[in-house]
Amino acid sequence: MTEDKKKRSSVGVIGAGIQGVCISLSLVKKGFNVTLIDRDEPGKESASYGNAGHFSPYASVPINRPDILVDVPSMLLSSTGPLALKWNYALKMIPWFVKFIQNCSKKKMMHTAKYMHQILDLALPAYDELFQDIDISGLIESKGIIYFWTNKDLKSRELEINIRKELGVEQQLLKPHEIHDLEPHIRQIYHGGVLYPYAKHARNPKKILLKLFDAFIKKGGKYEKKNVRSISLNEENKPVIKTDLNFLKFDKAVIACGAFSKKITDQLDEKIPLDTERGYHVHFKGHDLLLSWPVIFLNRGFGITPMEQGLRVVGTVEFGGLDNPASKKRILNLINNAKYLFPELKEHHDEWLGFRPTLPDFLPIIGPSKNSNNLFYSFGHHHLGWTLGAISGKILAGMIAEEKTNLNLAPYNSTRFS
Ligand SMILES: Cc1cc2nc3c(=O)[nH]c(=O)nc-3n(C[C@H](O)[C@H](O)[C@H](O)COP(=O)(O)OP(=O)(O)OC[C@H]3O[C@@H](n4cnc5c(N)ncnc54)[C@H](O)[C@@H]3O)c2cc1C
Repeated sequence: MTEDKKKRSSVGVIGAGIQGVCISLSLVKKGFNVTLIDRDEPGKESASYGNAGHFSPYASVPINRPDILVDVPSMLLSSTGPLALKWNYALKMIPWFVKFIQNCSKKKMMHTAKYMHQILDLALPAYDELFQDIDISGLIESKGIIYFWTNKDLKSRELEINIRKELGVEQQLLKPHEIHDLEPHIRQIYHGGVLYPYAKHARNPKKILLKLFDAFIKKGGKYEKKNVRSISLNEENKPVIKTDLNFLKFDKAVIACGAFSKKITDQLDEKIPLDTERGYHVHFKGHDLLLSWPVIFLNRGFGITPMEQGLRVVGTVEFGGLDNPASKKRILNLINNAKYLFPELKEHHDEWLGFRPTLPDFLPIIGPSKNSNNLFYSFGHHHLGWTLGAISGKILAGMIAEEKTNLNLAPYNSTRFS
């Protein structure tokens, strides 16, 4: 696409989470005329605000894997475990679960791992490019992330460790005394662990998102606070976005509404099986000296990240859709798990529920709609949407600018569900 054509091309991006903001910034940098639309202030309560803040380029081994099916029933029944189901949502979830099970073979697992690795490997350099003109000092730490577990979990750990080895992911296995040397305040319940040394973590995901948003505005991007109801294609096959207040016409449009994207794609004759894995966080303030690395206790499926707001305790995969209220029991579970590791923790603050956007094969959708080359999608980044913000933005902006790429982008196409 010529520079002149880019300047003349208008793009509407719906959703100001990390996906929409990174896409919008990448597009204005290329010279497009971009309007970012969100029903809320950027980063208000979205997944991109409340996540664990991990930049996890190592995390290519998906949850859909042969051994998970054996573990699910006991995880669902465990009161300390990571998995929960809102029973009033169970029937609605069945089609998603069926597709998930179909994606748990070794072959499908390796397909997902390979194509997650393809983009995860580029995730940090893509952020470095976006951060070139932005002052993010004090907001990101580059010390790595520690996982630990008790013996019970060792077998499934071995599978992940071996696949990561095959993919060339750098990892350092940790013995119990090494975990203790790094994090002496954690109760010594662990039997093993691993450090991913080149992972990073955000000290405040919302502040980073707002810095990226400000850069977008400074480069001439526009922002409209509006709720989008639907998108249609006009006689020229161009997108028309219907908001609560008006119609907005663009040459191209992008849907990047995280877990809410399906509400819009369902109206476009798409059958994209997007659902949500709900997750929670709480903060414990004033305990900065207890922890310096972000840690994940795998047996209980939760993590603690040291952030500006205090220790952010994050976890739970709850299947329950977008409309069910937050579950007090899940929040209590997080609090108890945190106190199990750090008995000195007392009062918690800021109970938050967020929505991971998840497709049953655990690959995101990044690419054009099946209906039009003027309509694009970027959602379904599940547990890794924060890590994958910049690279998804780079890929999608490249697609809209009709640039050539050496990447194999077919695995992320929405047509895999048609
Ligand atoms: C508990 C938890 C912990 C996580 N931890 C990590 C982590 O450590 N590392 C990592 O990489 N990922 C993590 N994730 C995943 C990551 O947060 C998400 O994948 C990512 O934030 C999704 O970004 P998004 O931009 O697609 O969606 P969102 O952040 O959900 O943003 C979507 C935006 O779309 C807007 N919107 C929706 N519908 C409409 C509409 N109709 N009209 C207008 N606007 C609309 C919303 O207001 C929102 O601003 C975590 C997620 C959770 C829930």
